[in-house]
Amino acid sequence: HAKKKQGTAIQIFNSTLLSAFKDDAQIERDLHTAIRGRQFELYYQPLWDLQQNRYTGAEALIRWHHPKKGVLFPGAFIDIAEQSGMINAIGAWVLEAACRQLNLWQHHNLDMSMHVNVSARQFFSGNLYEQVWQLLSRYRLRPKSLILEITETELMEDIRYATNLCQELAELGVGLAIDDFGTGYSSMRYLKQFPISKLKIDRSFISDLTVSHESREIVSAIIAMARALNLSLTAEGVETTDQETFLAKSLCDQAQGFLYSPALREAEFSQFLYENQVPANRLPV
Ligand code: C2E
Ligand code: MG
Ligand code: MG
Ligand code: MG
Repeated sequence: HAKKKQGTAIQIFNSTLLSAFKDDAQIERDLHTAIRGRQFELYYQPLWDLQQNRYTGAEALIRWHHPKKGVLFPGAFIDIAEQSGMINAIGAWVLEAACRQLNLWQHHNLDMSMHVNVSARQFFSGNLYEQVWQLLSRYRLRPKSLILEITETELMEDIRYATNLCQELAELGVGLAIDDFGTGYSSMRYLKQFPISKLKIDRSFISDLTVSHESREIVSAIIAMARALNLSLTAEGVETTDQETFLAKSLCDQAQGFLYSPALREAEFSQFLYENQVPANRLPV
């Protein structure tokens, strides 16, 4: 009996695994036509400045309108795109779309920065610098309003290359943020070595901020360190006013999360800004 049961379990496991493989293979095939088919869309999640009490930026987050599966979140396809190399084409599209949007904001005198996620493969592809340089000039962007988000683990893949590229990007004037800070193998030495401008504290530390003494201490320590190193800070995944209050009191710069808004389509994002703060967000002309 026991043997028979085990056999069944293995069969179920195998067929689940097999269909997961088939699914991934299908996603990979579908990715090839997704860009040409205009199936990707950038959504924008507002970033709230806790000290200035206004929205000062947004993070561009990709969504895929899959012809059969509906709207897919990056968790369903970014890894597959990364493994198959498709991420380079997707990443280039994302950067371009985000810069085009940033240009529109600038055109409307909105003082907003644009945060764009850069994957490891794209970072080490050899033409990120060129792409960024071209986009800055094509869209006449203020360089510091473009912020590239990279994870610590990515930077560590090739420290020498990463140091040089970060240096070059910093010389262009664009911002560099460490995404999901605290979850990778960060060494304080590298934080000093890379010309980083911002840390984004991972949401795992924010979610239990008001119940966990340890998380509060960790977040306070990260904030103190960022202050000392002259880095700006964004807390990810802020969902409650208690979390917001703690972060504002601890002098964290910026907050991002469902407390303010999820990522929105462009039209909804504009509407959101219009309703929540347009006058205060104008640049002095
Ligand atoms: P991330 O860069 O850490 O982005 C933040 C993620 O947290 C987003 O998920 C966002 O919707 C979600 N989030 C925001 N506020 C809250 C909150 O209050 N609570 C909770 N539970 N979640 C919140 P999303 O859009 O599914 O993106 C997941 C990841 O996919 C991103 O994590 C990023 O690493 C990657 N990604 C997204 N867009 C791109 C892209 O254009 N290129 C690349 N290479 N990666 C991307
Ligand atoms: Mg990010
Ligand atoms: Mg993040
Ligand atoms: Mg995160």
